Amino acid sequence: MKIPDIIIAIDGYSSTGKSTLAKKIARKFSFLYLDSGALYRGVTLFAQEEGLINRISIIDPSLKEALKGLELHFDAEGKLCMGPRCIEQQIRSMEVSSQVSPVAAVPYVREWVDEKLHEFGRRGRIVMDGRDIGTAVFPEAQLKIFMTASEEVRARRRYDELVSKGESPLLEEVVKNLRERDYIDSHRETAPLRRAEDAFELDNSDMSFEEELAWVQGLIQGKFGIL
Ligand code: C5P
Repeated sequence: MKIPDIIIAIDGYSSTGKSTLAKKIARKFSFLYLDSGALYRGVTLFAQEEGLINRISIIDPSLKEALKGLELHFDAEGKLCMGPRCIEQQIRSMEVSSQVSPVAAVPYVREWVDEKLHEFGRRGRIVMDGRDIGTAVFPEAQLKIFMTASEEVRARRRYDELVSKGESPLLEEVVKNLRERDYIDSHRETAPLRRAEDAFELDNSDMSFEEELAWVQGLIQGKFGIL
């Protein structure tokens, strides 16, 4: 069956499992998966390495000019690279997580990332996850999902993910980071995190991944007639 050129936007709070779901949908329907958060994380790592952000997340205004020389792309496996260097592991660290939301709240950073996302979006047939995809980046997306889950479930997920990657975080630190990011992401002036009016809400606090997937497949089937 011919699959239409649609954009699926998956937004929601931190660690609600957006990327796991988005990747699975992309694989199932042969869509391109795009992780918009990875780009914000890449810009944050860049600002840290260039010494353009200090410990209390004050950002040097020269970051704007410096971004002109930043090259971020995804490799064939979907991992983020800065020029020739794969930075996938560094961008998932607590160090980057602790500063990414202040960086993502800066309007010129959002413009820089949005431009990249629109380049990718031109080809259609993509699943993109983030915070403002359905509201600001692709308000015309044909299917929008907004994900939530209890703080406890999200913190445990994020903690397990960090441990599996060899980090040894404190659970309290993980909780603190989730709260801070959600707060900053929801309260910033430019493209704050919120549910688009036409988004379907998915609270997966008490759902298995299989149940989640069946829910989304039901939506896709109902909307586009593809299974
Ligand atoms: O999705 P992930 O948790 O990796 O995103 C990291 C951070 O990037 C978020 O906490 C948020 O500050 C920012 N972000 C954003 N808009 C997006 C995607 C991510 O502001 N579309």
